[in-house]
Amino acid sequence: MARSVVVVGGGTAGWMTASYLKAAFGERISVTLVESRNVSTIGVGEATFSTIRHFFAYLGLEETDWMAACHGTYKLAIRYENWRDKGHYFYHPFERSRVVEGVSLADWWLHKRPSDDYDRDCSVIAALCEAGRAPRFLEGNLFERSLTGDEIRSTMAEQTTQFPYAYQFDATLLAGFLTRYGTGRGVRHVLDDVVDVAADERGHLTHVRTRESGDLTGDLFIDCTGFRGVLLNQKLGVPFLSYQDSLPNDRAVALRVPLDMATQPFGPYTTASAQDAGWIWTIPLFGRIGTGYVYAGDYCTPEEAERTLRAHVGPAADDLEASHIRMRVGRSADSWAGNCVAIGLSSGFVEPLESTGIFFIQNAIEQLVKHWPGGRDDERLRRSYNRQVSNVMDGVREFLVLHYVAAKRADNAYWRDAKTRPMPDPLAERIEQWQVKLPDEDTIFPYYHGFEPYSYIAMILGLGGLRLRAPRSLAMMDDLAADKELRLIRDQASSLAERLPSHYEYLARLHQQG
Ligand code: FAD
Repeated sequence: MARSVVVVGGGTAGWMTASYLKAAFGERISVTLVESRNVSTIGVGEATFSTIRHFFAYLGLEETDWMAACHGTYKLAIRYENWRDKGHYFYHPFERSRVVEGVSLADWWLHKRPSDDYDRDCSVIAALCEAGRAPRFLEGNLFERSLTGDEIRSTMAEQTTQFPYAYQFDATLLAGFLTRYGTGRGVRHVLDDVVDVAADERGHLTHVRTRESGDLTGDLFIDCTGFRGVLLNQKLGVPFLSYQDSLPNDRAVALRVPLDMATQPFGPYTTASAQDAGWIWTIPLFGRIGTGYVYAGDYCTPEEAERTLRAHVGPAADDLEASHIRMRVGRSADSWAGNCVAIGLSSGFVEPLESTGIFFIQNAIEQLVKHWPGGRDDERLRRSYNRQVSNVMDGVREFLVLHYVAAKRADNAYWRDAKTRPMPDPLAERIEQWQVKLPDEDTIFPYYHGFEPYSYIAMILGLGGLRLRAPRSLAMMDDLAADKELRLIRDQASSLAERLPSHYEYLARLHQQG
C-alpha cells in the first residue's frame, strides 16, 4: 500500500491533491508537497463545474468556510455571446431539460418554436441569470429544494441530480486557502526547486532532488508541475498527444480588472464572448473581474489579442498589466506511469471553454483514491485509471469541437476553418445523427466526461449553426401538456426572479460571515 506521497507543484492541482489525500486518509499516509519559489503558477482557472461542491464537501468545508477567503461567487450558467450572430447571446445553464409526455421538452420546443430562445423558454436558470439573482434565499435555502443533493462525502461520478450551480473564485487565493488546510492536517510543505528526478531500472521514481532541501523519497509521486510535466513527460518520457488539429486555440492573454460589486452589479455566470480568432472569458469574482482572450496563434498575434482584450474591457483595463500564456492543448498518452501520476495541466488540458481544468483535477484525484496503488494488481489499476482519465478528456474534446462546428458564425477564416477542420473520429457521424434526433445518452460520447445530453442540446440549440429536425411524431400528438410546461417554467422563473436576492446581496452577506 502506498503510504508516502510526494506531490511536486503547488498550483491548484498540487494543493487540491494534497488536501484531498489528507481528507481521505488522514494520518495513515504522509504527504510532502514541494513547490518552487521561482516557477510561478499559471495564475488563471477561476470558473468551475457544478460537481466542484463534492470536493469542498469531501474536505468538510461549507461555503461560509472558504468562499470569502477566495473571493468566491456563484456560477449558474455560461453565457455565450456572438457565437451565432454578432449581438446574439444564450445561456448554457446547469439545468436538465424537462420531460413532457415521455418526450424531452427540447424536442417539443424544436417542434413548436415558441421563440428563438430555447434557453429562456425552457430553463428557469436563464431567467435568474438575466435578473442577476443568487441561487439561494437569504436564509440559505437553495431555490430548488429537490436539487440539494447533500450526499455525505460523495464523488462526482455518483451524482444523480444536476446541481444548479458551480463557483467562480480566485485560483491563487484557493491555493493559499488549501495550503493552510493541508498543512493544518499534516502536509509537509517544502519551498524549493526540484532539480533532478531519479528512477530505478523499472521506470519507478525513487526520489526527487531539491536545490536546498535534499532528496525527497516516496512510494507514489504526483506530478503537478503544470505544462512542464517535469516527472511524467520529461523524466519518464510519456508522450503528449496534442489536440491542436481539432482545437487550434493555443494562447491566451489575461487581465485582472478591479470591480466594485456594490455599484457595478454582476450576473451569476461566466461569459464566453466569441471574437475574430477565439473568445474572451469574463469571470466575475467578489472584488474583481478575471478576463482573458483565448485565441489561435495562427490567426492572431499576441499584440492584436491584447489590443482586442483591452478594447473589450474598456477604460478599466488602462494601466493593468496583461499576462500572456502559451497553452499545451491535449493530454499525456497515459497520466499514470510506474509510480508517478500526473494531475492538472501536466496530465492534460483542453482550452478553458466550459471551464474543465479544475474538473479534470477533481476527477483525477477522486479516481486516484478509488484506484489506490501498492500491491500486485497495480498494473490493472493503472490501466483502468488511465482509461478513465483519458476518456474524460477525449469526451470533453469532442464536446468543445462541437461548439465551433455548430456555431453559426462563419464571418472570417477562423470561423470558416472551424467547420472544415479534422474532427475526432466519431463526432462527424454523431452530428449527422443529432440533426434528425437531438442528443441522448445513446448518441453522445459513450463514457463519463462530465457532460450530459442536456448540455449538448443547450449548445446545439443556442449556437444555431446546424439544421435540426423535431421528431415527426410530435405533429400527431396533443401538445397541451407541453404548452402547460412552458407556461409553468415562465411562471416559476418570474416568481423566483422576484423573490430571490440579488447575486451581490447574497454574497455580501455570505462574505461578512466568512
Ligand atoms: P500550475 O498552476 O502551472 O502549477 C505548477 C506548479 O508546479 C507551480 O507551483 C510551480 O512552482 C511548480 N513547479 C514547476 N516546476 C517545478 C520544479 N522544477 N520544482 C518545483 N516546483 C515546480 N480551469 C478551470 O477549471 N476553469 C477555468 O476558468 C480555467 N481557465 C483557464 C484559462 C487559461 C488561459 C489556462 C491556461 C488554464 C485555465 N484553466 C481553467 C486550467 C487551470 O488553470 C489549471 O487546471 C489549474 O490552474 C491547475 O494548474 P496546475 O496546478 O496543474 O499548474
